[in-house]
Amino acid sequence: MNHMLELLRKKVPKSGKDMPLYYKSALATTEVVLVIYFLIVTIMLSRINHHLEWVPALMCAGMLGCRYSIGRINSRLSVYAFEVLIIVWCSWHTHFVGWGYGAQHLLIPMLMLCFFNIYEPPPLKLVTFVLVVFYRMALFSYSLQHSGVYAMDRTMVVLYQLLNSLTLFDVLAIDFITFSSSIQESERQLIINNQALHKEAGTDPLTQLPNRRAMLDHVAAFMNDSPNQPFSVAIADIDFFKKVNDTYGHQCGDYTLKELANLFMGHADNRYTVCRWGGEEFCFFMPGLNLDEAGIIMNDLNTAVRKMPLHYHDDSFIITITIGVEEYDFRSTPDAILGKADQKLYMGKMNGRDQVVI
Ligand code: GH3
Ligand code: MG
Ligand code: MG
Repeated sequence: MNHMLELLRKKVPKSGKDMPLYYKSALATTEVVLVIYFLIVTIMLSRINHHLEWVPALMCAGMLGCRYSIGRINSRLSVYAFEVLIIVWCSWHTHFVGWGYGAQHLLIPMLMLCFFNIYEPPPLKLVTFVLVVFYRMALFSYSLQHSGVYAMDRTMVVLYQLLNSLTLFDVLAIDFITFSSSIQESERQLIINNQALHKEAGTDPLTQLPNRRAMLDHVAAFMNDSPNQPFSVAIADIDFFKKVNDTYGHQCGDYTLKELANLFMGHADNRYTVCRWGGEEFCFFMPGLNLDEAGIIMNDLNTAVRKMPLHYHDDSFIITITIGVEEYDFRSTPDAILGKADQKLYMGKMNGRDQVVI
Protein backbone atom coordinates (compact mmCIF):
# COMPACT_ATOMS: atom_id res chain seq x y z
CA MET A 1 0.00 0.00 0.00
CA ASN A 2 2.81 2.40 0.99
CA HIS A 3 4.60 1.50 -2.19
CA MET A 4 1.48 2.32 -4.19
CA LEU A 5 1.11 5.72 -2.48
CA GLU A 6 4.83 6.39 -2.98
CA LEU A 7 4.37 5.62 -6.68
CA LEU A 8 1.46 8.03 -6.97
CA ARG A 9 3.47 10.84 -5.38
CA LYS A 10 6.48 10.20 -7.59
CA LYS A 11 7.68 13.20 -9.60
CA VAL A 12 8.03 12.67 -13.34
CA PRO A 13 10.67 14.33 -15.50
CA LYS A 14 9.42 17.45 -17.25
CA SER A 15 11.09 17.06 -20.62
CA GLY A 16 10.45 14.19 -22.99
CA LYS A 17 13.58 14.86 -25.02
CA ASP A 18 15.82 12.60 -23.01
CA MET A 19 13.45 9.64 -23.01
CA PRO A 20 15.42 6.52 -21.97
CA LEU A 21 17.03 4.72 -24.90
CA TYR A 22 15.59 1.32 -24.01
CA TYR A 23 12.06 2.79 -23.97
CA LYS A 24 12.56 4.48 -27.33
CA SER A 25 13.89 1.23 -28.73
CA ALA A 26 10.89 -0.81 -27.45
CA LEU A 27 8.44 1.82 -28.75
CA ALA A 28 10.15 2.07 -32.15
CA THR A 29 10.27 -1.71 -32.67
CA THR A 30 6.66 -2.12 -31.56
CA GLU A 31 5.57 0.56 -34.01
CA VAL A 32 7.54 -1.01 -36.87
CA VAL A 33 5.90 -4.39 -36.19
CA LEU A 34 2.50 -2.69 -36.21
CA VAL A 35 3.26 -0.88 -39.50
CA ILE A 36 3.89 -4.31 -41.04
CA TYR A 37 0.77 -5.68 -39.33
CA PHE A 38 -1.47 -2.94 -40.74
CA LEU A 39 0.06 -3.39 -44.16
CA ILE A 40 -0.76 -7.10 -44.15
CA VAL A 41 -4.28 -6.40 -42.80
CA THR A 42 -4.84 -3.90 -45.64
CA ILE A 43 -3.85 -6.52 -48.22
CA MET A 44 -5.95 -9.24 -46.56
CA LEU A 45 -9.07 -7.11 -46.20
CA SER A 46 -8.77 -5.82 -49.77
CA ARG A 47 -9.19 -9.41 -50.89
CA ILE A 48 -12.64 -9.40 -49.29
CA ASN A 49 -13.35 -6.24 -51.25
CA HIS A 50 -15.52 -4.36 -48.84
CA HIS A 51 -14.04 -0.95 -49.72
CA LEU A 52 -13.06 -0.30 -46.16
CA GLU A 53 -9.44 -1.37 -46.44
CA TRP A 54 -8.42 2.30 -46.50
CA VAL A 55 -8.91 2.24 -42.69
CA PRO A 56 -6.04 -0.22 -41.96
CA ALA A 57 -4.06 1.60 -44.67
CA LEU A 58 -4.63 4.84 -42.78
CA MET A 59 -3.60 3.10 -39.53
CA CYS A 60 -0.44 1.91 -41.30
CA ALA A 61 0.39 5.47 -42.35
CA GLY A 62 -0.40 6.77 -38.85
CA MET A 63 1.84 4.16 -37.24
CA LEU A 64 4.59 5.05 -39.70
CA GLY A 65 4.20 8.68 -38.63
CA CYS A 66 4.47 7.62 -34.97
CA ARG A 67 7.67 5.72 -35.73
CA TYR A 68 9.09 8.67 -37.64
CA SER A 69 8.38 11.15 -34.83
CA ILE A 70 10.46 9.21 -32.25
CA GLY A 71 13.64 11.18 -31.65
CA ARG A 72 12.86 13.57 -34.54
CA ILE A 73 9.70 15.45 -33.67
CA ASN A 74 8.56 14.44 -30.19
CA SER A 75 8.93 11.01 -28.63
CA ARG A 76 6.17 11.69 -26.09
CA LEU A 77 3.76 12.60 -28.86
CA SER A 78 4.60 9.31 -30.53
CA VAL A 79 3.45 7.41 -27.42
CA TYR A 80 0.15 9.28 -27.20
CA ALA A 81 -0.51 8.98 -30.95
CA PHE A 82 0.29 5.27 -30.71
CA GLU A 83 -2.25 4.87 -27.89
CA VAL A 84 -4.94 6.76 -29.84
CA LEU A 85 -4.32 4.65 -32.96
CA ILE A 86 -4.68 1.40 -31.00
CA ILE A 87 -7.95 2.57 -29.43
CA VAL A 88 -9.31 3.66 -32.82
CA TRP A 89 -8.21 0.37 -34.38
CA CYS A 90 -9.83 -1.76 -31.67
CA SER A 91 -13.10 0.18 -31.98
CA TRP A 92 -13.20 0.04 -35.77
CA HIS A 93 -12.17 -3.59 -35.77
CA THR A 94 -14.85 -4.67 -33.27
CA HIS A 95 -17.52 -2.89 -35.30
CA PHE A 96 -16.50 -3.93 -38.81
CA VAL A 97 -14.59 -7.19 -38.41
CA GLY A 98 -15.80 -8.56 -35.10
CA TRP A 99 -14.55 -9.66 -31.71
CA GLY A 100 -13.36 -13.17 -32.43
CA TYR A 101 -10.04 -12.36 -34.14
CA GLY A 102 -8.08 -11.09 -31.15
CA ALA A 103 -7.18 -7.62 -32.49
CA GLN A 104 -8.36 -6.10 -29.20
CA HIS A 105 -5.44 -7.85 -27.42
CA LEU A 106 -3.22 -5.05 -28.77
CA LEU A 107 -4.50 -3.11 -25.76
CA ILE A 108 -2.05 -5.16 -23.64
CA PRO A 109 1.21 -3.90 -25.23
CA MET A 110 -0.38 -0.46 -25.34
CA LEU A 111 -0.90 -0.56 -21.56
CA MET A 112 2.59 -1.93 -21.09
CA LEU A 113 4.16 0.95 -22.99
CA CYS A 114 2.01 3.35 -21.00
CA PHE A 115 3.21 1.85 -17.69
CA PHE A 116 6.89 1.82 -18.66
CA ASN A 117 6.73 5.45 -19.81
CA ILE A 118 8.56 7.46 -17.13
CA TYR A 119 7.07 10.72 -18.50
CA GLU A 120 3.56 9.56 -17.75
CA PRO A 121 2.58 10.69 -14.21
CA PRO A 122 1.57 7.63 -12.10
CA PRO A 123 -1.99 8.93 -11.39
CA LEU A 124 -2.50 9.24 -15.15
CA LYS A 125 -1.27 5.66 -15.58
CA LEU A 126 -3.83 4.52 -13.05
CA VAL A 127 -6.61 6.42 -14.83
CA THR A 128 -5.50 5.00 -18.20
CA PHE A 129 -5.53 1.49 -16.70
CA VAL A 130 -9.09 1.85 -15.34
CA LEU A 131 -10.32 3.43 -18.59
CA VAL A 132 -8.77 0.67 -20.70
CA VAL A 133 -10.40 -2.02 -18.56
CA PHE A 134 -13.81 -0.33 -18.91
CA TYR A 135 -13.24 0.31 -22.60
CA ARG A 136 -12.47 -3.37 -23.19
CA MET A 137 -15.59 -4.45 -21.32
CA ALA A 138 -17.67 -1.95 -23.32
CA LEU A 139 -16.18 -3.27 -26.57
CA PHE A 140 -17.06 -6.80 -25.58
CA SER A 141 -20.66 -5.98 -24.71
CA TYR A 142 -20.93 -4.06 -28.01
CA SER A 143 -19.62 -7.08 -29.89
CA LEU A 144 -22.35 -9.25 -28.29
CA GLN A 145 -24.98 -7.15 -30.01
CA HIS A 146 -23.20 -6.51 -33.34
CA SER A 147 -21.36 -9.06 -35.38
CA GLY A 148 -18.74 -7.79 -37.81
CA VAL A 149 -19.70 -6.73 -41.31
CA TYR A 150 -16.77 -8.44 -43.02
CA ALA A 151 -17.67 -11.99 -43.91
CA MET A 152 -14.48 -14.06 -44.09
CA ASP A 153 -14.14 -17.58 -45.38
CA ARG A 154 -12.53 -20.26 -43.23
CA THR A 155 -9.01 -19.85 -44.64
CA MET A 156 -9.14 -16.12 -44.12
CA VAL A 157 -10.35 -16.57 -40.55
CA VAL A 158 -7.41 -18.87 -39.75
CA LEU A 159 -4.91 -16.57 -41.46
CA TYR A 160 -6.29 -13.47 -39.82
CA GLN A 161 -6.33 -15.08 -36.37
CA LEU A 162 -2.76 -16.22 -36.95
CA LEU A 163 -1.68 -12.73 -37.95
CA ASN A 164 -3.23 -11.15 -34.86
CA SER A 165 -1.71 -13.76 -32.52
CA LEU A 166 1.75 -13.53 -34.09
CA THR A 167 1.70 -9.74 -33.96
CA LEU A 168 0.63 -9.69 -30.31
CA PHE A 169 3.24 -12.24 -29.18
CA ASP A 170 5.96 -10.56 -31.26
CA VAL A 171 5.27 -7.19 -29.72
CA LEU A 172 5.07 -8.64 -26.20
CA ALA A 173 8.32 -10.57 -26.65
CA ILE A 174 10.12 -7.49 -28.02
CA ASP A 175 8.93 -5.29 -25.15
CA PHE A 176 9.63 -7.87 -22.44
CA ILE A 177 13.13 -8.55 -23.74
CA THR A 178 13.95 -4.85 -24.13
CA PHE A 179 12.68 -3.85 -20.69
CA SER A 180 14.11 -6.83 -18.78
CA SER A 181 17.54 -6.64 -20.44
CA SER A 182 17.66 -2.90 -19.78
CA ILE A 183 17.01 -3.53 -16.06
CA GLN A 184 19.68 -6.27 -15.96
CA GLU A 185 22.15 -4.08 -17.82
CA SER A 186 21.53 -1.14 -15.46
CA GLU A 187 22.05 -3.43 -12.48
CA ARG A 188 25.28 -4.82 -13.96
CA GLN A 189 26.58 -1.30 -14.63
CA LEU A 190 25.66 -0.25 -11.09
CA ILE A 191 27.61 -3.17 -9.62
CA ILE A 192 30.65 -2.41 -11.81
CA ASN A 193 30.52 1.30 -10.92
CA ASN A 194 30.13 0.55 -7.22
CA GLN A 195 33.11 -1.79 -7.31
CA ALA A 196 35.20 0.85 -9.12
CA LEU A 197 34.13 3.54 -6.65
CA HIS A 198 34.87 1.28 -3.70
CA LYS A 199 38.34 0.53 -5.09
CA GLU A 200 38.98 4.20 -5.82
CA ALA A 201 37.88 5.21 -2.31
CA GLY A 202 40.41 2.78 -0.84
CA THR A 203 43.34 3.58 -3.17
CA ASP A 204 46.02 6.23 -2.85
CA PRO A 205 46.07 8.05 -6.21
CA LEU A 206 49.83 8.76 -6.22
CA THR A 207 51.27 5.34 -5.38
CA GLN A 208 48.20 3.20 -6.25
CA LEU A 209 48.67 1.45 -2.89
CA PRO A 210 45.67 0.92 -0.61
CA ASN A 211 45.12 3.91 1.68
CA ARG A 212 44.80 4.09 5.48
CA ARG A 213 41.05 3.43 5.40
CA ALA A 214 41.44 0.30 3.26
CA MET A 215 44.22 -0.97 5.55
CA LEU A 216 42.19 -0.44 8.73
CA ASP A 217 39.25 -2.30 7.10
CA HIS A 218 41.63 -5.08 6.10
CA VAL A 219 43.07 -5.46 9.63
CA ALA A 220 39.61 -5.33 11.22
CA ALA A 221 38.34 -8.00 8.79
CA PHE A 222 41.32 -10.25 9.58
CA MET A 223 40.78 -9.89 13.35
CA ASN A 224 37.12 -10.66 12.88
CA ASP A 225 37.64 -13.70 10.60
CA SER A 226 40.70 -15.18 12.42
CA PRO A 227 40.52 -14.06 16.05
CA ASN A 228 43.08 -16.66 17.17
CA GLN A 229 45.68 -15.90 14.51
CA PRO A 230 48.77 -13.81 15.39
CA PHE A 231 49.82 -10.89 13.21
CA SER A 232 52.30 -8.04 13.23
CA VAL A 233 52.17 -4.51 11.92
CA ALA A 234 54.90 -2.03 11.03
CA ILE A 235 55.02 1.67 10.24
CA ALA A 236 57.82 3.00 8.05
CA ASP A 237 58.77 6.65 7.55
CA ILE A 238 61.25 8.04 5.02
CA ASP A 239 64.23 9.70 6.70
CA PHE A 240 64.75 13.38 5.94
CA PHE A 241 62.24 13.28 3.12
CA LYS A 242 61.75 17.02 3.35
CA LYS A 243 65.36 17.32 2.15
CA VAL A 244 64.53 15.33 -1.02
CA ASN A 245 61.71 17.78 -1.77
CA ASP A 246 63.81 20.81 -0.92
CA THR A 247 66.87 19.64 -2.90
CA TYR A 248 65.34 18.04 -6.02
CA GLY A 249 61.79 19.43 -6.01
CA HIS A 250 58.34 18.17 -5.07
CA GLN A 251 57.98 16.21 -8.33
CA CYS A 252 61.10 14.28 -7.46
CA GLY A 253 59.58 13.64 -4.02
CA ASP A 254 56.49 12.18 -5.74
CA TYR A 255 58.69 10.06 -7.97
CA THR A 256 60.53 8.76 -4.86
CA LEU A 257 57.25 7.82 -3.18
CA LYS A 258 56.14 5.90 -6.29
CA GLU A 259 59.45 4.09 -6.62
CA LEU A 260 59.34 3.15 -2.96
CA ALA A 261 55.78 1.85 -3.30
CA ASN A 262 56.90 -0.31 -6.27
CA LEU A 263 59.79 -1.68 -4.23
CA PHE A 264 57.45 -2.54 -1.34
CA MET A 265 55.03 -4.36 -3.63
CA GLY A 266 57.83 -6.29 -5.34
CA HIS A 267 59.29 -7.26 -1.99
CA ALA A 268 55.99 -8.33 -0.38
CA ASP A 269 55.86 -11.82 -1.89
CA ASN A 270 52.50 -12.43 -0.17
CA ARG A 271 54.09 -11.97 3.26
CA TYR A 272 52.51 -8.60 3.92
CA THR A 273 50.10 -6.05 2.58
CA VAL A 274 51.29 -2.48 2.46
CA CYS A 275 49.42 0.82 2.36
CA ARG A 276 50.28 4.48 2.17
CA TRP A 277 49.57 5.52 5.72
CA GLY A 278 49.86 9.23 4.90
CA GLY A 279 52.52 11.66 3.66
CA GLU A 280 55.82 9.75 3.51
CA GLU A 281 54.69 7.01 5.88
CA PHE A 282 53.72 3.44 4.98
CA CYS A 283 52.02 0.76 7.02
CA PHE A 284 52.61 -3.01 6.75
CA PHE A 285 50.28 -5.78 7.87
CA MET A 286 51.84 -9.21 8.29
CA PRO A 287 49.19 -11.89 8.97
CA GLY A 288 50.32 -15.01 10.87
CA LEU A 289 53.75 -13.56 11.72
CA ASN A 290 55.14 -12.96 15.21
CA LEU A 291 57.44 -10.07 16.14
CA ASP A 292 60.71 -11.89 15.33
CA GLU A 293 59.51 -13.08 11.91
CA ALA A 294 58.14 -9.64 11.09
CA GLY A 295 61.43 -8.05 12.29
CA ILE A 296 63.45 -10.20 9.86
CA ILE A 297 61.26 -9.20 6.90
CA MET A 298 61.35 -5.52 7.83
CA ASN A 299 65.16 -5.58 8.28
CA ASP A 300 65.46 -7.14 4.85
CA LEU A 301 63.19 -4.43 3.45
CA ASN A 302 65.18 -1.70 5.18
CA THR A 303 68.36 -2.96 3.48
CA ALA A 304 66.59 -3.15 0.11
CA VAL A 305 65.48 0.49 0.41
CA ARG A 306 69.01 1.63 1.30
CA LYS A 307 70.30 -0.16 -1.83
CA MET A 308 67.60 1.18 -4.14
CA PRO A 309 69.15 3.57 -6.70
CA LEU A 310 66.97 6.59 -7.49
CA HIS A 311 67.47 8.66 -10.63
CA TYR A 312 65.45 11.75 -11.31
CA HIS A 313 66.45 13.77 -14.36
CA ASP A 314 70.22 14.27 -13.86
CA ASP A 315 70.19 13.55 -10.15
CA SER A 316 71.00 10.25 -8.49
CA PHE A 317 70.43 9.70 -4.82
CA ILE A 318 69.35 7.16 -2.23
CA ILE A 319 66.96 7.23 0.70
CA THR A 320 66.65 5.36 3.98
CA ILE A 321 63.63 4.52 6.10
CA THR A 322 63.01 3.94 9.80
CA ILE A 323 60.53 1.23 10.81
CA GLY A 324 58.67 0.44 14.02
CA VAL A 325 57.28 -3.12 14.34
CA GLU A 326 54.63 -4.39 16.77
CA GLU A 327 52.97 -7.76 17.36
CA TYR A 328 49.28 -8.29 18.14
CA ASP A 329 48.79 -9.11 21.84
CA PHE A 330 45.26 -10.55 21.39
CA ARG A 331 43.88 -7.71 23.54
CA SER A 332 44.50 -4.36 21.90
CA THR A 333 42.49 -2.63 19.21
CA PRO A 334 44.07 -2.12 15.74
CA ASP A 335 44.52 1.58 16.58
CA ALA A 336 46.38 0.73 19.80
CA ILE A 337 48.71 -1.77 18.08
CA LEU A 338 49.48 0.72 15.31
CA GLY A 339 50.03 3.40 17.94
CA LYS A 340 52.69 1.19 19.59
CA ALA A 341 54.39 0.61 16.21
CA ASP A 342 54.40 4.39 15.73
CA GLN A 343 56.05 4.88 19.14
CA LYS A 344 58.80 2.44 18.13
CA LEU A 345 59.24 4.33 14.87
CA TYR A 346 59.68 7.51 16.89
CA MET A 347 62.31 5.76 19.03
CA GLY A 348 64.15 4.74 15.85
CA LYS A 349 64.13 8.36 14.67
CA MET A 350 65.53 9.45 18.02
CA ASN A 351 68.23 6.78 17.85
CA GLY A 352 69.66 7.97 14.53
CA ARG A 353 67.14 6.73 11.85
CA ASP A 354 67.70 4.07 9.13
CA GLN A 355 66.83 1.19 11.45
CA VAL A 356 64.11 -1.28 12.44
CA VAL A 357 62.83 -1.17 16.03
CA ILE A 358 61.11 -4.33 17.21
P1 GH3 B 1 62.14 12.58 9.43
O1 GH3 B 1 63.35 11.79 9.15
O2 GH3 B 1 62.07 13.10 10.81
O3 GH3 B 1 60.91 11.85 9.08
O4 GH3 B 1 62.22 13.84 8.49
P2 GH3 B 1 61.32 14.22 7.29
O5 GH3 B 1 61.89 15.34 6.56
O6 GH3 B 1 61.03 12.99 6.47
O7 GH3 B 1 59.97 14.55 8.00
P3 GH3 B 1 59.03 15.79 7.94
O8 GH3 B 1 57.79 15.39 8.68
O9 GH3 B 1 59.75 17.02 8.45
O10 GH3 B 1 58.73 16.01 6.43
C1 GH3 B 1 57.95 15.14 5.73
C2 GH3 B 1 57.86 15.68 4.33
O11 GH3 B 1 57.14 14.79 3.48
C3 GH3 B 1 57.16 17.02 4.27
C4 GH3 B 1 56.18 16.89 3.13
O12 GH3 B 1 56.28 17.94 2.20
C5 GH3 B 1 56.62 15.62 2.45
N1 GH3 B 1 55.51 14.95 1.81
C6 GH3 B 1 54.41 14.42 2.37
N2 GH3 B 1 53.62 13.94 1.42
C7 GH3 B 1 54.20 14.17 0.23
C8 GH3 B 1 53.84 13.88 -1.13
O13 GH3 B 1 52.78 13.31 -1.44
N3 GH3 B 1 54.70 14.25 -2.09
C9 GH3 B 1 55.88 14.89 -1.79
N4 GH3 B 1 56.69 15.21 -2.78
N5 GH3 B 1 56.21 15.16 -0.54
C10 GH3 B 1 55.41 14.82 0.46
MG1 MG C 1 56.56 11.55 8.68
MG1 MG D 1 60.10 11.34 7.35
